[in-house]
Amino acid sequence: MFFEDYTEKLWGVHPRDISADWGAQRVKGLSVSKAIKNAFAKLFKKKNREVETSLIEQFVYPKKGPGQLYEKMASEIERLGGKILLQRRVCDVQIENGKITSVTAVNAQGEEETYSGEYFLSSMPIKDLLQAIGQEHAPKEVYDVATALPYRDFMTVGLLLKGLKVKNKTKLKTLGDIVPDCWIYVQDRDVRLGRIQIFNNWSPYMLKDPEEHVWVGLEYFCSEGDEMWTSDDRAFIDNAVDELVKIGVIDNKDDVLDSTLLRVKKAYPAYFGTYARFDEVKTYLDGIENLYCIGRNGQHRYNNMDHSILTAMEAVAHILGESDDKNAVWNVNTEKEYHETKTEN
Ligand SMILES: Cc1cc2nc3c(=O)[nH]c(=O)nc-3n(C[C@H](O)[C@H](O)[C@H](O)COP(=O)(O)OP(=O)(O)OC[C@H]3O[C@@H](n4cnc5c(N)ncnc54)[C@H](O)[C@@H]3O)c2cc1C
Repeated sequence: MFFEDYTEKLWGVHPRDISADWGAQRVKGLSVSKAIKNAFAKLFKKKNREVETSLIEQFVYPKKGPGQLYEKMASEIERLGGKILLQRRVCDVQIENGKITSVTAVNAQGEEETYSGEYFLSSMPIKDLLQAIGQEHAPKEVYDVATALPYRDFMTVGLLLKGLKVKNKTKLKTLGDIVPDCWIYVQDRDVRLGRIQIFNNWSPYMLKDPEEHVWVGLEYFCSEGDEMWTSDDRAFIDNAVDELVKIGVIDNKDDVLDSTLLRVKKAYPAYFGTYARFDEVKTYLDGIENLYCIGRNGQHRYNNMDHSILTAMEAVAHILGESDDKNAVWNVNTEKEYHETKTEN
């Protein structure tokens, strides 16, 4: 009930119309009784208490943000002789006798390039993958279900601020004594803003002057092509600043020193519409012997970074013969408890 309005902003539909699968992913292992138990354990400073992922208060974070994980991975791949080709969009997949033989990609100059291979690991959205396989190769029902899979798109406004109007009333110490939150969920129905990130609290190293300035990200959820998505950048940023003033996070627009706007297509694979028949798509894709569907949109699952990476690791284990169960790739992040229950020391 608490997250009702935020959830509706995020998905564009009421929570009652979203599959329970999503709730299970989002608040893994958490229940009202566990939340209450955790609150009491905290109150009485109980040592070594078990904490569900959703209630974790401390975690390790790369100094300059999670992109550093991927930069490191990329440099390792290249060090070991791998080649990473960027700015290419896979638009066609060639299949012969139940196996992918090659894929065609369009490069930044608009030219087509074809790549053949023994194994194919796909993290592109399943909707686009089926479009690339083509109506002529995939069974009609599978093609129709996959190409109608819903997504939510994302716009984020980054603002560099002189400070925040909201004050730190907690006992938690922060640089510049700003509120200690990493994320603030905005339930207020009067604004379209869904969530605020305070990057200072993720890592102060992401700011030039963390004691003087606050770097926030305002998150908006929309659908590609809708009125939000197509709005003028400047007008969108101005409106975001007005919303921040309206909900009392900053005093006025003079607090804003700099701004930026980013649009992210298919940021959220959605659990409604044809998702109810997703198993048909999964079964078809699994039948393609040398294809592994990995990642978040690659599996159309609300996977976080750790799970997305694990799906790739499971795929590699299968290719190397270390695992004989191709299903393990799909099984990451499906078991209710999985490996996420942690013990705080
Ligand atoms: C707002 C938001 C907040 C999040 N917060 C967290 C968090 O706090 N912690 C966490 O762990 N996770 C978080 N996530 C989830 C995390 O971002 C994903 O789990 C992770 O990025 C998925 O990795 P991936 O490799 O599957 O996909 P992506 O990182 O999306 O990479 C897929 C790549 O494929 C490319 N691509 C797409 N189509 C094609 C094509 N046809 N041909 C070639 N390339 C293509 C895309 O351009 C993209 O570069 C968040 C996600 C969002 C949207």
